[in-house]
Amino acid sequence: MVRRGAHDAPRRRGSGMSSVLVLGGGFAGLLAAAAAGPYADTVTVVERDAYPVEPQPRRGQPQARHPHFLAPGGVLGAERLLPGVTDRLAALGAHRIGVGADLLFRAAGGGWLDRADTGRVGISCTRNLLDHAVRELIREQYPVMFRTGCDAVELIGDSRAIRGARVRDLRTGAVDEYEADLVIDATGRGSRAAAWLDRLGIAVPGAETVDSGHAYATQMFRAAPGAESDFPMILIQADGRSGRPAANAILLPVENGQWQVAVGGTRGMSLPTDDAEFRTYARDRPADPLLGDMLAGAESLSGTMVSRSSGNRRWRFDRIRHRPCGFVVTGDAATALNPVYGHGLSTAVRCATAIRATLAARGADPVAAAGLQRSICRAASDPWQIATSQDRQFSATDGAPLSALERAQLRYGEQALRAAAYHPAVAAIVSDVMFLARPARSMGHPVVAAGALLGSRRPVRSEAPLSAREFGFRTSGRVA
Ligand SMILES: Cc1cc2nc3c(=O)[nH]c(=O)nc-3n(C[C@H](O)[C@H](O)[C@H](O)COP(=O)(O)OP(=O)(O)OC[C@H]3O[C@@H](n4cnc5c(N)ncnc54)[C@H](O)[C@@H]3O)c2cc1C
Repeated sequence: MVRRGAHDAPRRRGSGMSSVLVLGGGFAGLLAAAAAGPYADTVTVVERDAYPVEPQPRRGQPQARHPHFLAPGGVLGAERLLPGVTDRLAALGAHRIGVGADLLFRAAGGGWLDRADTGRVGISCTRNLLDHAVRELIREQYPVMFRTGCDAVELIGDSRAIRGARVRDLRTGAVDEYEADLVIDATGRGSRAAAWLDRLGIAVPGAETVDSGHAYATQMFRAAPGAESDFPMILIQADGRSGRPAANAILLPVENGQWQVAVGGTRGMSLPTDDAEFRTYARDRPADPLLGDMLAGAESLSGTMVSRSSGNRRWRFDRIRHRPCGFVVTGDAATALNPVYGHGLSTAVRCATAIRATLAARGADPVAAAGLQRSICRAASDPWQIATSQDRQFSATDGAPLSALERAQLRYGEQALRAAAYHPAVAAIVSDVMFLARPARSMGHPVVAAGALLGSRRPVRSEAPLSAREFGFRTSGRVA
């Protein structure tokens, strides 16, 4: 059966585009659908899983069991693509995290940052809730069709043009052909786009990889009484500059009065496997025992779940010599990042923003896909550079060694971070870059450059900047 719904629909005036087919309905696929919504007559999302009615785990997103912070850069972009998304998430129980004010952040090499409010907000909730809210809003705002329980199995087309995809209905086994003017692959880390293109005679340059071997162990906890709706997020980065394996830790206050807590480490760290080991690790392994102390009296609500899905991997679909029309790749399917930097979701937002900009400017000319793929890759370029240069500091990382320039940039960044602990103006810019709310080149801003010079002479801030209430909690295990 050939589904031609897209071509049957009237074309929008002034736009050559009539139909967009998105493969994969995770965060990147949903936002790509939202991006295309105003510029296509039909948008169809093909998703392998059946979506749960309530925010619940599902098979195709094993990473959803681990903390997912939507950084301020992602929040700003998501709000432009899906107006009202932040309020919807907050109404469903997500926490707005004022970066600075509500975040205790110990940066690798930079010590604890100041609590000065930067005016930027990130979103802290479970990944299940995040995707649930985004799906709800898309259904309300755009006539997107969802084909769930359906597996994209291959592309339809030839070496010059992709015209759609073959899709297997997992309930019946039937394979349908879905035609579209633009096919967007958003099937995540496991994407088979390169193999699909290869079968059509299109050679994709090999993937670039940088793998620090980072692993995560996550547990859910009940927030301490009194701390359910008002407790800071905690981020302690792994400090691997010594060359030894290094540990990180993260506490996200999430919906339903719970904390989603992860500890992790670079290659060579052995991870906890049960509650007792988890608590010991959280106290003893990261560069500061703060998170372990905060957990002392907290009730564990789950087992310990491990993820090793952390390698940075980028396919250069933008560098295909003879690109076929009508096909682009986005989200983790194109650029997957080490999750410890918390950039994957925001990168998906940036890619979706690039999709919307191209469709707004060029309509649906399938030929525009080549330029669109370049924009998508550019959108992921800062996050890729940040994650891979940080990871390549660790001696056990698989990847090209750092160049002298990259080493100098990292040193400069550390000095800027030290300065950020004392100068709110420096902190505002540096944290914007870290959370993808400004381009990485903003690190060259004169305020940051002056700060980096001063920062080299300031000691790192070694004590977490706790409020009196948090300090009381740390020492007594009770919220006053
Ligand atoms: C442990 C861990 C923690 C993380 N923490 C953070 C964080 O704090 N902040 C952050 O920004 N990012 C974080 N990330 C990264 C984030 O999970 C990814 O960047 C994000 O999921 C990318 O979204 P995506 O839509 O590209 O992929 P996914 O969310 O993986 O979605 C892919 C979708 O495609 C579907 N699919 C796959 N194959 C097919 C097919 N053939 N046909 C149809 N459907 C298919 C899947 O079922 C799934 O729904 C973390 C990742 C991990 C592993």
